[in-house]
Amino acid sequence: MKEKQNRASGTLSAVVVFGVPIRFHFTFILLLIFLLTAGFGGGKSVLYDIIFIVSLFAAVLLHELGHALVARIYGIKTVEIVMYPIGGVARLEREAAPVAELWIALAGPAVNVVLAIGLYGWLTLLSGWGQIERQLVDRIAVSNLYLAGFNMAPAFPMDGGRVLRALLALWKGEAAATRVASFVGRLLAMAMGIYGLISGHILLLLIAFLIYVAATQEGAASAGRALTQGIPVKAAMVTEFERLPHGSTIREASQRLLATTQQDFPVVHGERVIGLLDRQSFLRGMAIEGAETYVSQVMDRDFLSLDPLMNLAEALPLLTGNVSCALVMENDRLLGLLTRENISEFLLLRKLGIVEAQQGSTAQVLPEH
Ligand SMILES: [Zn+2]
Repeated sequence: MKEKQNRASGTLSAVVVFGVPIRFHFTFILLLIFLLTAGFGGGKSVLYDIIFIVSLFAAVLLHELGHALVARIYGIKTVEIVMYPIGGVARLEREAAPVAELWIALAGPAVNVVLAIGLYGWLTLLSGWGQIERQLVDRIAVSNLYLAGFNMAPAFPMDGGRVLRALLALWKGEAAATRVASFVGRLLAMAMGIYGLISGHILLLLIAFLIYVAATQEGAASAGRALTQGIPVKAAMVTEFERLPHGSTIREASQRLLATTQQDFPVVHGERVIGLLDRQSFLRGMAIEGAETYVSQVMDRDFLSLDPLMNLAEALPLLTGNVSCALVMENDRLLGLLTRENISEFLLLRKLGIVEAQQGSTAQVLPEH
């Protein structure tokens, strides 16, 4: 299987805490540089502003670590924590079951509540401090409460949205839960956006927009997961397709491309699959090498190959980016193709209830009544 680049783009150097790589998005670094340079030559209040903002980011980071640590209790690794100027994101390696998701989501805001309580406790114990210092600690404590509260808004990708989904999932099942949670998230994002527009809070408008997109994506991704969960790859694959002998030229391949609806061609040497000529490598070969080049020179030898019994829900995320087609192979035998197009067709048919996919069998079209 292809090694996929497994980190958020535009991120810099990682610090590893509790085994979790923490990356900083470059915009976050720019913000820090800006804040630090703004502090030079400034008075005490500027210094305190910087301490305040740095504490705020520390609070966000601890919040994300809270998610990561509870996820680990449930055996789910955190791929990375990415720090953006408007907040952090803990990326988990896989989806959690409802009960796990509930506790993982609650852990982040809980960290901020505990921090706020600790800071207030500290304030009452230490009486010898000046007014400005006390105000600073108070501000940090209030911000932690604000962080916890804001994140508990019932909208994806906020923690509150996940809590809502987890609770609904225990009651109504995962698919219905995500539908409702995604709807509530979009509704809330719209309300937030309208308020941001009227009150002139541009940052709020931006956050509302991001929440709206995330809620929509989460809804679609989860619908896809629900429709593909427990279904083997072989149920959705294309079983009738053409192969190209390794001695074919790009010109011959282009004729097959026109004559069929197929866009990706397995390249074979006898019975053995030696590569995949997908649309991208075809176009690249055509442009750089010319029409008389052999397909074996431009094909992708490092193609994505899937086991026919692999869960379709797990195969789905592998077909992203520039990977548009996977070969379904049993030992060295080519059984079928799995493309993004035929997955969406499969999902559509599943949604309409036309295709009933059975574990370990091929897709069957039910007779109409
Ligand atoms: Zn969170």
